[in-house]
Amino acid sequence: MEGFDDKSNIGYPIPGIFLNTDTGAPMTNCIQCDYDLLKGDRYYVIEKVYKTYPEMGTTEVLFEYAICSHCYEKMKDELSAESMANLSQYMLENTDVEAMQARIEENPNNPEAWLSHCMIKGTPIQGLSEYQIGACFLGDRLMTDFMPPFLIGNMAIEEMNSILSQKTKDQMDDFMNDNFGIPPELRKDLILI
Ligand SMILES: [Zn+2]
Repeated sequence: MEGFDDKSNIGYPIPGIFLNTDTGAPMTNCIQCDYDLLKGDRYYVIEKVYKTYPEMGTTEVLFEYAICSHCYEKMKDELSAESMANLSQYMLENTDVEAMQARIEENPNNPEAWLSHCMIKGTPIQGLSEYQIGACFLGDRLMTDFMPPFLIGNMAIEEMNSILSQKTKDQMDDFMNDNFGIPPELRKDLILI
């Protein structure tokens, strides 16, 4: 069990917002290969997509999934390198890193508080009609060594979709439909990062 104690001391506990919406428990399996994520020996990413209904004051999870690092890398490899490079470039140029760092410094032990604004546009979550969140995990710990948890609002998602080639959009649609049963009309609310 060497390393087990170390792992329990790194990262952060899984914030409530990243638990399974239906069960309130941690997500347990890779949506694609069914890998046991809580074994703690493989990184994984959780993504959730939300739609808000301001007139009703409610927020609904459109879909959510966890995907292990192996399947995640495979998925990225299958998408066009040019579109992926464009996406990386967009995020590099547009992410408000200073604001993100300020949110982290204000609440160093509360990663959920870092998700209060779109990391690209700076729009407060209350002003977004749709948004997606994502973060990286190892076992039952939120990890920040590759990327901090992120929130991207609908305006930025639209911009990011607009810089993808039609071929990549079709690939993303097929990938999400084949693997997660997510239809193209919902996929447009999500960008595979
Ligand atoms: Zn997997």
